[in-house]
Amino acid sequence: MHLFDTHAHIGLITEDPIEQLIIVQEARKESVDCIVSICNNLQDFFQVYENLKTAAHVYHAVGVSPSEVANLSRGWEEKIEEGVAFPRIIAIGEIGLDYYRKFGNKDSQIELFIRQLEIAGRLGLPVIIHNRDAGRDVLEILKEKLPSRGGVLHCYSENWNYAKEALNLNLYISFAGNVTYRNARNLHETAKNMPLDRMLIETESPFMVPSSHRGKRNKPAYLSETALFIAELREEDPETVCEVLFRNSLDFFQVTP
Ligand SMILES: [Zn+2]
Repeated sequence: MHLFDTHAHIGLITEDPIEQLIIVQEARKESVDCIVSICNNLQDFFQVYENLKTAAHVYHAVGVSPSEVANLSRGWEEKIEEGVAFPRIIAIGEIGLDYYRKFGNKDSQIELFIRQLEIAGRLGLPVIIHNRDAGRDVLEILKEKLPSRGGVLHCYSENWNYAKEALNLNLYISFAGNVTYRNARNLHETAKNMPLDRMLIETESPFMVPSSHRGKRNKPAYLSETALFIAELREEDPETVCEVLFRNSLDFFQVTP
């Protein structure tokens, strides 16, 4: 079995460089052969990148999340381009809109989102998209601005009807550990009905820990529970589901491990 954790905030699990390495190595023992490290801010990106430089199975996304909209430093766009030049940078992310926590204001979030969609288009990278309580605006913006390499709606939180609209835009949909929660009916319906070839999985660690580890901090090593849960929902062979999800990740990020 091969698993690809498409979204892990390694720098939020721990700031300790040695522990970060242990976490990504430990994941391999649980069949997590590849991980995408997602930064919290640009400073965190450069730090975690440096700490995990020797971990060849860890890829990195670089970008400014909506939570940073009020703390943008001068030259942030140049910093993203500087990061993109490093080896194993495979996406711009996470970027998007978060109306739940009301970072900055809507207009400044939208502007930051669009500018990074344009950067991704210019640099030929796909995007990892954060959406919290902003589903309508996210889709409307993506209809106009989705870069040619496409995008993934990460830590999917909407319903099946929304997913159909996203699939029409050729987006991927990524499920995190919250799909395993008993009351997550919208997520179950979506994961059951959507085409498997547009699906990715992730831990969103340290958040969204799968059911059986509830109460703990999430980490990439816990990813298999999410894959197996989805296979059971779909009544499909777990090995096959894992293989398809893994292949989807390689296709989306254009990587060969
Ligand atoms: Zn995230």
